[in-house]
Amino acid sequence: MRITVWNEYVHEKLEEKVREIYPNGIHNCIRDFLLKNGFTDVKTATLEEPEHGLTQEVLDQTDVLFWWGHMRHNDVSDEVVQRVYDRVQDGMGLIVLHSGHESKLFKKLMGTNSGQLRWREAGETEIMWNIRPDHPIMQGIGDKVVIPQEETYGELFHIPDPDELLMISWFSGGEVFRSALTFHRGAGRIFYFKPGHETFPIYHMPEVQKILCNAANWAYNPAPSSIGYGHFPVPPISTL
Ligand code: ZN
Repeated sequence: MRITVWNEYVHEKLEEKVREIYPNGIHNCIRDFLLKNGFTDVKTATLEEPEHGLTQEVLDQTDVLFWWGHMRHNDVSDEVVQRVYDRVQDGMGLIVLHSGHESKLFKKLMGTNSGQLRWREAGETEIMWNIRPDHPIMQGIGDKVVIPQEETYGELFHIPDPDELLMISWFSGGEVFRSALTFHRGAGRIFYFKPGHETFPIYHMPEVQKILCNAANWAYNPAPSSIGYGHFPVPPISTL
């Protein structure tokens, strides 16, 4: 499985607090734990690289793409968004992290121009309840994951109904949020996972890493079916 971890990589350069948690960027933290967990081909790409590091060649050699963005969603070129969107439709897995809900890419895949939700940065506790312990992405995860401090996200989350709802989060301020979701678009499998605000060390948490490793395996679709489309002539009866 060939994985590419895409990160906007802006907060880490601008804010000391974020740099302390992710000295090499969120993308390299994710890459490191994927490598430690048995994935062998993990590359990274960031916003400021040419074509945001997501050339057609890179995408053609990517089976699963991770996506973390926040401050500069609008600086991602429409051409690259279209290219990634097409690859998802053709079978590339996509794992959308935290504030990626407002990325051009996620909104396009969801068919919404909003992706809005409620939020506040108050360092509240998040309890993620596992409501699909049978699901491959939830293997090895107990009945809940407790994140001591996290940005609060609350419903209403303006997305279409997910194909599967794996976790519901409760926050100490009272909100609830659908925080681990799957979608299918074309041959592509998409996992949205809410945690990961940049000022908390969330991608260092073993349970979060476990879920994301499971998600990569789930999203990997090495042989998307190639059903013939278009006009089909009536075959001679003898060949049926
Ligand atoms: Zn955030």
